Amino acid sequence: MNIILLGPPGAGKGTQARILVERDGMVQLSTGDMLRSAVAAGTEIGKQAKAVMDAGALVTDEIVIGIISERLEQPDVKGGVIFDGFPRTLAQADALGELLARKGMALDSVVEMRCDDDELVTRVTGRFTCGGCGEGYHTTFKQPAAEGVCDKCGASDFKYRPDDNEDAMRTRLLAYYKETSPLIGYYHAKGSLAAVDGTAEIDEVTAQIAAALN
Ligand code: ADP
Ligand code: AMP
Repeated sequence: MNIILLGPPGAGKGTQARILVERDGMVQLSTGDMLRSAVAAGTEIGKQAKAVMDAGALVTDEIVIGIISERLEQPDVKGGVIFDGFPRTLAQADALGELLARKGMALDSVVEMRCDDDELVTRVTGRFTCGGCGEGYHTTFKQPAAEGVCDKCGASDFKYRPDDNEDAMRTRLLAYYKETSPLIGYYHAKGSLAAVDGTAEIDEVTAQIAAALN
């Protein structure tokens, strides 16, 4: 099964994608994670993307479509893909449709994760991730069971994103409403859209996604 998790920054896309990966063995394709890896590795793409990402604006369609196109060449995508944070513009959605068609892959469902702005700001400003395995946490909603130690891998270095501040978040939300929210209508018209309440507890959101995919 190939799905898109569509929603504003902080809606819980990464959190739910990691659960689906563990439970169903799907592959999570997060363009945000791929771009952050490129920035950390100091590649040409990383150098071009860093300032744009830090400010909360969108990286060019050309860059992200190129990254996804290359990643879809890997054999592991045959087991099912969760697109997380991609597509974010109508041009990216069109390009994804063409890429999938060329590879004989279907798009089974687009799950819109709804969440209000105040909650989104609270979520991203409290977000941190494990530097070892990437597990996501939150200062209020999801602390590790033992303080300072990752539940999943036992590592004790945690990362905070430079764009998870209120200023960049304002730009990111604007980009979402302006560039990405038209995809809700786009996928609704194609008959593949389902919506879940992203403000519910993490387990409840997982259950709603499972129901939407059945
Ligand atoms: P996205 O990938 O959509 O930007 P994340 O999955 O990283 O969002 O979630 C943003 C923050 O909110 C993280 O700190 C995460 O732990 C927390 N979070 C995710 N889902 C929920 C939820 N249903 N309720 C409360 N907090 C959540
Ligand atoms: P995310 O991790 O999904 O919150 O993405 C972090 C940042 O990476 C975004 O604010 C953008 O600057 C950039 N980015 C990630 N995915 C895309 C995309 N599909 N299109 C454009 N920019 C993206």
